Formats: sequence, structure tokens, C-alpha cells
Amino acid sequence: MDVRSTEIESVDPNRVGGVERRGLSDVLDADAVTINHYVIAPGDRISGLHAHQNQEEVFLVLDGAVTLETLDGTVVVDEGEVVRVAPGEFQSVTNPHGDPATVLALGAPRGQTDLRVPVGCPECDAEVAALDFTGGDERLVCPGCGHDREAACPDCGGELRAELDGDGRPVSVCLSCGVRMRER
Ligand SMILES: [Zn+2]
Ligand SMILES: [Zn+2]
Repeated sequence: MDVRSTEIESVDPNRVGGVERRGLSDVLDADAVTINHYVIAPGDRISGLHAHQNQEEVFLVLDGAVTLETLDGTVVVDEGEVVRVAPGEFQSVTNPHGDPATVLALGAPRGQTDLRVPVGCPECDAEVAALDFTGGDERLVCPGCGHDREAACPDCGGELRAELDGDGRPVSVCLSCGVRMRER
């Protein structure tokens, strides 16, 4: 029998801000699918707005509710509901609700590294950048003209995260100094 099970609570969590992530892919020897279990504190989010060019994602809400930000608006996903995000679709799973949210996230195929963020190019009219981690530091690379820059706050060097602004357009927010930049 080639079957493997695990108690989710027994997996050591990785905590970033108000997000607790338990990676289950390796524990389960999963080859084809990425599996993560998240507990998201009120006011936090799994990640900034991003798109996987070659991976579809499914989020199953086990407890509480999340709001999925997309470039076409938001979708509330309640406990007991499941949502699928197509490859290439920008999304950010947020918890603007009053209680913690627990979410199981599945992504397939596993091991895809072609990640895009909704950040425009300073040199051409491209409205999306590829996020490149391969050199160690995060870089924004324009798929149109190849323009390459560090993905960091120009004011303080802090980490940037794309999110929907009040008007439904993406904005880059510095997690260190809080500066908000409209980049497309
Ligand atoms: Zn460009
Ligand atoms: Zn900053």
C-alpha cells in the first residue's frame, strides 16, 4: 500500500506575520501537487497579488472565511466552500474578516517558478513583471523588454507586496515603511 497520512497539527508551522503555514507536500511525498495548510489571522493575507503562469490553484476554506482579491474584483469564500484559480489569474487570499481563517491550498503541477506580479515596467508599456528569485535576491524582470530591477522598496529597501487599492487597482505596499506605490 503506497498511502501516507499525517496529523496536520504535528507538522511544524512556518510563521510570517499573522500567517501560519504548514507545508504538506514533502510530508506526504506529493509529486504532482503542492499542498499547504494556512491559518490566517484577521487583517492578514497569504501573499500579495501574484499569478502562476503554469499552475492552477484550489483553496478550500475549512474554518472562517477569506476574501480573494483579483484584478477583476473580490470574491468571498466561506467555510465549506472551495474556489479554483486558473493559471495566469492574479490573486491574493486575504482575511479581512473578524476571525482567523483556515485554508487548505492545492497547486498543480508542483514546482512551477514562473511567477508574475501586477507591476508595470518603467521602460515599456508592459503591465506585468516576472518575479525572479534565482539569483538570491528578488528581482522584477519585464517580459516585454527585459528591464531588470531589484524588487525592494526604493525608500527603505523593505519587502514589497502588491494588493488591491480602494479603487480596485493594484498598488505596491512596503511591509517595512508602509509607502504605497501605484506602478501601472
Ligand atoms: Zn519593459
Ligand atoms: Zn519602504
